[in-house]
Amino acid sequence: MEEIPSMQKKIVLLGDSSVGKSSLVFKFVKDQFFENQEPTIGASFLTKTVPQNSHEVKLQIWDTAGQERYESLAPMYYRSASGALVVYDINDKQTFKKAKFWIKELISNGENGVIIFLVANKSDLEHNVDSVEASKYCEENGLFYFETSAKTGHNVVEVFTSMASQFEYVP
Ligand code: GDP
Repeated sequence: MEEIPSMQKKIVLLGDSSVGKSSLVFKFVKDQFFENQEPTIGASFLTKTVPQNSHEVKLQIWDTAGQERYESLAPMYYRSASGALVVYDINDKQTFKKAKFWIKELISNGENGVIIFLVANKSDLEHNVDSVEASKYCEENGLFYFETSAKTGHNVVEVFTSMASQFEYVP
């Protein structure tokens, strides 16, 4: 059988603590959800291969390892990322503010052309951040907007596969 061409891409998750970053990665990679997701310890990544028409993308998905608490540590974490999922909790307005902070950081210090998705997680809970406001913010800043729930699985596969399909494959 002919081997499928493959490319590897690093993507990172950014956002406040407890917005569900680890839960999203777990749901996507292992199809599991934990009500009490253990905090990530140490730098860690999981990989998952996403097939495309002509090739496959090996996503190397980095979770922040709690580094969001130390804003100054962040640049080395996301500098070499081709894509970023900036996550907030749709139930918690404060985390939306923080997401906008991370987006600014990524735009000024991230890789040129880094693809940024704004992810409103916990869509199964009450929406305290207005979806219209969030999507308008994305439109103005050239970002993609998704609403997800790591708990129900809503849009979780979609967000990662859409990210994988953004990377141009050059044979
Ligand atoms: P992180 O610190 O951003 O990595 O957040 P975690 O993945 O550790 O999740 C924090 C808490 O939120 C855990 O108790 C999760 O079970 C919970 N959680 C994560 N995603 C969702 C979701 O989509 N809906 C609900 N209701 N809870 C979630």
